[in-house]
Amino acid sequence: MRVFKFGGASVNSAEAVDNMASIVQRHLGDELLAVVVSAMGKTTNKLERLVPGVADKGEQLAVRQEVEAYHRDIASVLLPGDETVQGDISRLLGEMDRLRHELPADVEHYNYAYDQVVSYGELLSTTIIATYLNRLGVNTQWVDARQVVMTDSHHREGRVDWEATRDACRTLWSEIESRGTTQVVLTQGFIGRAADGSQSTLGREGSDYTAAILAYCLDAESVTIWKDVPGFLNADPKYFADTIKIAHIPYNEAIELAYYGASVIHPKTVKPLQNKGVPLYIRSFLQPTSEGSAVGDFATIEPETPLYIVKENQILLSITPRDFSFIAEDNLQTIFGELNEMGIKANLMQNSALSFSICIDDWQERTDVLIERLRRLFRVRYNRGLRLITIRYYTDEAVERLIADRPVLLEQRSRQTAQVVVG
Ligand code: ASP
Ligand code: MG
Repeated sequence: MRVFKFGGASVNSAEAVDNMASIVQRHLGDELLAVVVSAMGKTTNKLERLVPGVADKGEQLAVRQEVEAYHRDIASVLLPGDETVQGDISRLLGEMDRLRHELPADVEHYNYAYDQVVSYGELLSTTIIATYLNRLGVNTQWVDARQVVMTDSHHREGRVDWEATRDACRTLWSEIESRGTTQVVLTQGFIGRAADGSQSTLGREGSDYTAAILAYCLDAESVTIWKDVPGFLNADPKYFADTIKIAHIPYNEAIELAYYGASVIHPKTVKPLQNKGVPLYIRSFLQPTSEGSAVGDFATIEPETPLYIVKENQILLSITPRDFSFIAEDNLQTIFGELNEMGIKANLMQNSALSFSICIDDWQERTDVLIERLRRLFRVRYNRGLRLITIRYYTDEAVERLIADRPVLLEQRSRQTAQVVVG
């Protein structure tokens, strides 16, 4: 079995869904094809505004209407006159509205409430797309991911219960296979069932991870992620004019790159695939016949070229003990304790005798709380609005060219990787 994953951008209009459906049709074979789909376009961002306590009544009303009109329009273009699909949309939105009215609006229950509401993006998209594929004559079985992807109750970042998930997947898949008529199993990315029975999600952009979970549990032959880029590029075209497609990427390299912030692959996706030796292909839904990139059992990246990863909106904190003590293990332990408690990841760090510097993603409010907490014990200075550039397989020339005349606030080089924080 192969697994395909289509993200929000690949299904953001009726035309896009039609293109996605033609890619699916082109790849039908003797075996089942599992297709994982995200919410359409920017639906998840919209649904985030509908979580109780987030937006005022007026905004909620407007967003709710927008979400409904968007899905109804796409469905009516793809499936003109189909009242069943419009009825399905009403049913799903009705369910979501009932939940929204019952859910607690306090901060303590925010993560829980979030999962109950945003799951409907994927439920809506897959319902419309499954109906469309069947209309085109592709025998498609819609599967509720909440019956197969089992997680703990850590809402907004559900951790997979691998055993329960594997059992549920295998039971359902062999049932579908034994019927012998289904060509495509279509399911939602990103969502699952929490241990407490409620809906859970795997973290933003988590649909790639769903594809990897299914591939792992069902011993898939390969996973293909269809994207709006021609493959894994050596740099984000948003920042660099000339990019090179990397044809082959070793699993470990893909994990490193995701860790440094390469956004093409969701960080958790590669590990399960590596464990089972399942290759991961990244291909363009805009040029569906061109080859793309492969992550797999390769010795090196191919072609060998510097890889650039840019992270915007960084803050660099410089932390100094107030009592003239040195930065030693006890102080570091306190600092890391605070980071850990607030779930903040260090993107880059460096220490000297008297100060410790750390570069993190600047999520305004959260960072303010961190600074306040650290200031109880340390002197904290900071610079906001910075950019962290990571270059794998750097050359001095590549680093120089990138920095140009930007002020460098921090720089670190290891044998393979250079990281620079610039203003
Ligand atoms: N719809 C979810 C999100 O936008 C999951 C995904 O797209 O992977 O984060
Ligand atoms: Mg998305």
